[in-house]
Amino acid sequence: MATIGETKMESTNGEQVSRHQEVGHKSLLQSDALYQYILETSVYPREPEPMKELREVTAKHPWNIMTTSADEGQFLNMLLKLVNAKNTMEIGVFTGYSLLATALALPDDGKILAMDINRENYEMGLPIIEKAGVAHKIEFKEGPALPVLDEMIVDEKNHGTFDFIFVDADKDNYINYHKRLIDLVKVGGLIGYDNTLWNGSVVAPPNAPLRKYVRYYKDFVLEFNKTLSADPRIEICMLPVGDGITICRRVK
Ligand code: SAM
Ligand code: CA
Repeated sequence: MATIGETKMESTNGEQVSRHQEVGHKSLLQSDALYQYILETSVYPREPEPMKELREVTAKHPWNIMTTSADEGQFLNMLLKLVNAKNTMEIGVFTGYSLLATALALPDDGKILAMDINRENYEMGLPIIEKAGVAHKIEFKEGPALPVLDEMIVDEKNHGTFDFIFVDADKDNYINYHKRLIDLVKVGGLIGYDNTLWNGSVVAPPNAPLRKYVRYYKDFVLEFNKTLSADPRIEICMLPVGDGITICRRVK
């Protein structure tokens, strides 16, 4: 039985009741102690100072649950270096933790096209990104990402130009993003789709107690995961880091 994201409690009449428990930016690992061990042994001691500062500023934001976890930030930073990424895109910036992890990994002439419908949250992290000396790599576009992609796709010159794309925004649009991004990423380039395990709800039974937003997006995430699995243009690897990230490598 799937119990991810649920806590079992004893009710007054002795029945087992379940309550939805937020996984948030904790890992999906089932032992908090094990996750804490990863953070304390490998992540926090090596976290660049500006990322730590941004993480601490973001922790005070009422929507801090949206931020990328520190272990996922470390993973993205390593991955970008491994593939020598230079031209990248991010959909879903919030206060910029994954953006900063990306910006710090790119060479000095690297580029990130970053999009979010909300500029205010980006501006909260911007002074820290500027202080880190990497703001010049970022082109921030405020507004929904889909029309920007539609505009880019019209010009063949943009096709096959991105080394890495990180998608961490509206889950009900992931399929629409994928339809466009597959042409914009290079053959051999990567797209990382975040939250593909969606709070563990992808294996939740139909009557599981889920938060409203988790329940709302669950079917979109399930459908999206099936779509990626059946797409012959990519190789995929779904990792239980953060809330689940599916790395896609374009092969044709
Ligand atoms: N990657 C971020 C980080 O490391 O903190 C977290 C991103 S947060 C989970 C999702 C973001 O997607 C929000 O900031 C939200 O404003 C943005 N978003 C939602 N719908 C969008 C859309 N249609 N186009 C662009 N951004 C969108
Ligand atoms: Ca995310």
